[in-house]
Amino acid sequence: MAMIEFRNVHKWYGDFHVLKNINEEVEKGDVLVICGPSGSGKSTMVRCVNRLEEIDKGAIYMEGKDITQKTVNLNHLRSEIGIVFQQFNLYPHISVLKNVTLAPIKVKGVSKAEAEATALELLDRVGISDQAHKYPVELSGGQQQRVAIARALAMKPKVMLFDEPTSALDPEMINEVLNVMKDLAREGMTMLCVTHEMSFAREVADRVIFMDGGEILEQGTPEHFFTNPQHDRTKAFLKEIL
Ligand code: ADP
Ligand code: MG
Repeated sequence: MAMIEFRNVHKWYGDFHVLKNINEEVEKGDVLVICGPSGSGKSTMVRCVNRLEEIDKGAIYMEGKDITQKTVNLNHLRSEIGIVFQQFNLYPHISVLKNVTLAPIKVKGVSKAEAEATALELLDRVGISDQAHKYPVELSGGQQQRVAIARALAMKPKVMLFDEPTSALDPEMINEVLNVMKDLAREGMTMLCVTHEMSFAREVADRVIFMDGGEILEQGTPEHFFTNPQHDRTKAFLKEIL
């Protein structure tokens, strides 16, 4: 059974058909990289997985359970499916440590002591335990994004969604975030990553999909994707970003 499965998924924004019959399976522990031009529906696709957007047709399954049903508990779903955005979206008025402990305490009812122990462990894992008592504004973009990853991991999710997590970063900070993501991938996290960082795709992706106009135009292993793309539009895209 796949960890995440899109089955005949369609979505419209008003009259605009933004997702056109998306079919995709991500096995437990696998990394899916989603790339494609701006406006092709990548963000919408991943945001549907934790119900930041609703689909109009089809279904999305997590371990066989339809997570697009109205009856699904969204707090529970979002504790199992973490998301990291392009803009780090940390809470500016509380410390780094509190950013990481807030949801486990509030949503999961974890004790403060336990939440803080876990948070410090996670901050250490992403290389910034020494910043725990600072405010987000005192951190670099790369550090803030690593806090955002730690914050998502604090809920002990089964799946992590990344939506262009390095696009807002200065070039010298991209690798520190990609390295954390690569470690996470190697540790067996199931990940859906919208990214144009093709070094990341080459190193850790199990599959790469190319989206254009709301459709998956091309899909395959990184090997296939980089050396033998079938569509002219994929070739043109690769030429632009590589
Ligand atoms: P990508 O992440 O590939 O750039 P998006 O999923 O963000 O693409 O958006 C796909 C298309 O849907 C774009 O044309 C965008 O303008 C449009 N869109 C995104 N969100 C909304 C919304 N909330 N309402 C209307 N149109 C939207
Ligand atoms: Mg996007």
